[in-house]
Amino acid sequence: MTVSPVTAYTVTCNACGETLEDDGGGTLFADPASVADAAPAYDWTVFGDRHLCPTEDDAHQAFIDRLMPPEPTFQAPGQLTVDEG
Ligand SMILES: [Zn+2]
Repeated sequence: MTVSPVTAYTVTCNACGETLEDDGGGTLFADPASVADAAPAYDWTVFGDRHLCPTEDDAHQAFIDRLMPPEPTFQAPGQLTVDEG
């Protein structure tokens, strides 16, 4: 038997740093493409090379908002900008 190093990938949430784990603990993927295939099964969201865990809080929502900006709204010249705070 020969011992060989292998490369494996883990996924961490870009909003909170949580690592994607299944019921048995850490989850390793053989390649990045496998991550994109498997992440949705764990309710994770994949945005290109970014990943978001299923946690729902302000930090995660802000992350989604940055990646998927709302439709630009037309603003008439001279119209006051409403600060939504
Ligand atoms: Zn997270």
